Amino acid sequence: MAKGVIEIKENRCRGCGFCEMFCKKGCIEMSTRVSNLGLPLPDFINPDDCSACGMCAWMCPHTAIEIYEYVEASPATAL
Ligand code: SF4
Ligand code: SF4
Repeated sequence: MAKGVIEIKENRCRGCGFCEMFCKKGCIEMSTRVSNLGLPLPDFINPDDCSACGMCAWMCPHTAIEIYEYVEASPATAL
């Protein structure tokens, strides 16, 4: 089950592929899409396997990835 989701800021991406290389869950794949600089863009695939570990964001040299971790909602409290 997914523990989080990532957002790839394509305007910052320079197509290096580090995010794909370092995601141990196989959640990122370089695509055939290209940025307006003509560089390959990554896609977030297999989102259900994302552990929200943060490695992709940590390894991205261009701070192009944001991680959002799911948190369990607190039970509603009666007033
Ligand atoms: S947060 Fe971790 S599991 Fe999720 S895409 Fe990034 S490297 Fe992969
Ligand atoms: S590591 Fe960052 S710059 Fe490199 S392909 Fe992934 S998102 Fe783009």
